Amino acid sequence: MISRRKLVLGLAGAAGAAALSRALAPGAPRQIAARRALKLPIAPSGWPFPGARVVAPSAVFPPDFGVRRIYLDAGHGAPGNTGNLSCFCVDEQDFTLAAARALAERLNATGRFEARVGRAGDRPLPYAERVEDAARWGADAFVSLHSDVRGRIETWSPGQGRQCPLSLAAPGFAVLWSDEGDPALCALRLALARGFARRMEEAGLLPYDGAAYSGLYEPDTAQPGVFLDRRPPGQRIFVLRRPSMPSILVETHHALDAREATRWTEPATLDAFAAAAAAALADALGGAGAPASALGGDGAPVSPPPT
Ligand SMILES: [Zn+2]
Repeated sequence: MISRRKLVLGLAGAAGAAALSRALAPGAPRQIAARRALKLPIAPSGWPFPGARVVAPSAVFPPDFGVRRIYLDAGHGAPGNTGNLSCFCVDEQDFTLAAARALAERLNATGRFEARVGRAGDRPLPYAERVEDAARWGADAFVSLHSDVRGRIETWSPGQGRQCPLSLAAPGFAVLWSDEGDPALCALRLALARGFARRMEEAGLLPYDGAAYSGLYEPDTAQPGVFLDRRPPGQRIFVLRRPSMPSILVETHHALDAREATRWTEPATLDAFAAAAAAALADALGGAGAPASALGGDGAPVSPPPT
């Protein structure tokens, strides 16, 4: 097993390790106060704390599944759009590119998918070009990767001379989808979103509770970690409503949470996420997801019948 100190050193250098250890130490006053306020156990356990286990869910492929094309959109890296700045002062566009490449490599290794990362990182790429590119390529699904920013932001120093934003109160992943457009396509988006969240939860990742999403995204009634885009029309997320194939956006974690940002650099996390993605894609594209009848005639989502 790799020690927490080693993991942190690998990411942020000795000074960052010391700062993170201080902030996350079981006895650290701020940590205790935060956990009391959140009604969480004082002793750190579970995601995203160091040492909390992640596992690789098993995918079930129907016999006629074949090889499916998955377009991986590394979020941001668009003109004038680098995304957020993480708690280690890493641009979101750089995190998403690394995460998308790691996911593509792992999906391709299954032999069940042909995954492609939409941008190379050599030039800013407009989102419209990505959506057109995915359609031209004949993608079966469009998965956009991002990291999120939520909650009250403080400043900390993860390394000498660097001041970066920090927020430890709102960890977790979120999977976003849109109910705009053709009801059959919307049903596939919902099946994909629920499949991703269900399999990510199974992998040991934490679904975000959505406390900061009020007015932006509406929580799903059936699956924790799934949210419907409810921004005012005209401000809704382009890659959720425009691709002609089912599309979702995965906020992998809270970029300002030093525990999550650290864990998302670990191969074990990338392996578990990729396995969760493969299982979710097999479920949704293989026909085991929500049927088209999961949407009402007006395109509004309805809860599935209790089982
Ligand atoms: Zn983003």
